[in-house]
Amino acid sequence: MRNSSISTMDRRGVMLVLSSPSGAGKSSIARQILSKNSEIELSVSVTTRAQRPSEIEGTHYHFIDHRRFAAMRDRNELLEWAEVHGNFYGTPRDPVEEALTAGRDVLFDIDWQGTRQLHEKMPEDLVRIFVLPPSISELKSRLERRAEDSDDVIAKRLTNAALEMEQWSEYDYVIINEKLEQSFERVQSILHAERMRRDRLIGMKMFVEGLLNEL
Ligand code: 5GP
Repeated sequence: MRNSSISTMDRRGVMLVLSSPSGAGKSSIARQILSKNSEIELSVSVTTRAQRPSEIEGTHYHFIDHRRFAAMRDRNELLEWAEVHGNFYGTPRDPVEEALTAGRDVLFDIDWQGTRQLHEKMPEDLVRIFVLPPSISELKSRLERRAEDSDDVIAKRLTNAALEMEQWSEYDYVIINEKLEQSFERVQSILHAERMRRDRLIGMKMFVEGLLNEL
């Protein structure tokens, strides 16, 4: 019989969302998850935000102008979209649907507005994790350390942090990001457990039928 163990069993992919206020360290956690798991890929968003010096087109974002963003949105090519800190961000639909059907997991680094939209559309596939900073002073110093944004951009992000943090209770899991390694381990445990949920295991019914047939 083909799918004879849980590690090889056909399953539907997990949609793993990480949200946090800017500077809480969510992107570092995301990077580690992506580098340590071959079965998960990042959903690369489109955005109208200006590219930062360290960012690579197609790896961190697809940087597009407002006209193209509006066209994608109006053609229903975005699974969700939102305005965040005065820029538009959206998740291209096709890569996500392809990955899930092929049993691959998808990691989303998106805000609470987008997470809410995904929850309305695909609640069974979604696992929502909210990342909090250990303190506001830590949040501030992480934003300043990044040194890729101007002072007014940093100020705007701090002002928005309150609104973002108020959404924590809409998430399935909440992590306080004190130490990156510990936060990574926590997200990794959540991912492992969520992959094994009964309703994701497409091959389980057949496996149990096989067991019963052997009796
Ligand atoms: P940044 O400009 O720092 O890369 O991202 C700003 C915020 O936009 C972050 O909270 C990030 O999670 C969110 N974001 C990035 N891509 C998307 C997206 O496709 N949709 C939504 N709703 N938010 C996004």
